[in-house]
Amino acid sequence: MSAARYHGATDRGKVRSGNEDAFAVEPPLFVVADGLGGHQAGEVASGIAVDAVVELAPEELDVDALADSVRVANERIIRAAHEGVGREGMGTTVTAAVVRGTRIALAHAGDSRAYLLRDGRLDRLTHDHSVVGEMVRSGTLTEEEARHHPSRSVITRALGSDPDMPVDRLEVTASPGDLLLLCTDGLHGMLDEDAIADILVSAPDPRHAVDRLVSAALDAGGADNVTVVVVRVGADRDEPVSPKRRSAAYLLWVLVAVLLAATAAGGAYSYARSKAYLTIENGRVVVYRGLPGEFAGVRLRWPLEETTIDASALDPQVASRLAGDLEVDSPSEALELVGEYRLMAAEAETATPAETETATP
Ligand code: MN
Repeated sequence: MSAARYHGATDRGKVRSGNEDAFAVEPPLFVVADGLGGHQAGEVASGIAVDAVVELAPEELDVDALADSVRVANERIIRAAHEGVGREGMGTTVTAAVVRGTRIALAHAGDSRAYLLRDGRLDRLTHDHSVVGEMVRSGTLTEEEARHHPSRSVITRALGSDPDMPVDRLEVTASPGDLLLLCTDGLHGMLDEDAIADILVSAPDPRHAVDRLVSAALDAGGADNVTVVVVRVGADRDEPVSPKRRSAAYLLWVLVAVLLAATAAGGAYSYARSKAYLTIENGRVVVYRGLPGEFAGVRLRWPLEETTIDASALDPQVASRLAGDLEVDSPSEALELVGEYRLMAAEAETATPAETETATP
């Protein structure tokens, strides 16, 4: 039996209760998607996306047609949410590749990634559409700091919200034997790029590489769903690598990066509007729509409710979580929590005198 030329796998990880990632290994097409939205909505979104791309992606190396399939996937997710399938606000990343010989066409949105291992060196092909990704590019954060940043999972572009969402496209010429890696942030959030490169270099074939990468992500904590696809490039049809083509791909990449910087700001704003967090100000619980902290010197938050709930009446553990800014998926989730804290505070008030009475006979 000859070694597989490609392989893919997904794992729920060690912390999440479900798996919202999805992937497809249907050569010449390879796709990974990381769903967002929780409560079974994320997996609806990533499932719709992968199905649409598998249905509509071109067989040949046509990066525009590939990007169009992602665009249709975006429209289908938006429509599904309106029709009550999944949930409003559900979304997903998509990184899709068509591999023909040593040529790769890529379409991408979100913070999943494509990498190419060439001559033992790992090149990241995609650009993260995330708040920390922007901060790394502007020099505010290092890659390592970004992997541990509290807002590391805040993405600035995803399928499912903006009907005009731009899709990054990229064409790359690899060398025969290079390895193409597609992965969700459950991999690159848990392992640094040196560790990923070491595994790819030492694994004998794509199947082993995938198995080892997934186990390494789990060993590192498995904090998120992890999905990995590895393809050995050019095994079927070798093509000479033209230096001209490489530089054309490089120029395209620079162009994509410039366009991205311009669109990321708008995406971050609408993403922040969909989120909320609770904190404590002047001893009281306060709710904001948006995200804690500053992004490139800008606060993305709007007051939602100033409660009369006294932080000292809450369970001390709860109070300390709130003091550290408790982020939640949506404003309505934040308001639900406020209801719970109000009850907790009221119970604490009525319970305290009773305890005092029994303690003093
Ligand atoms: Mn993820």
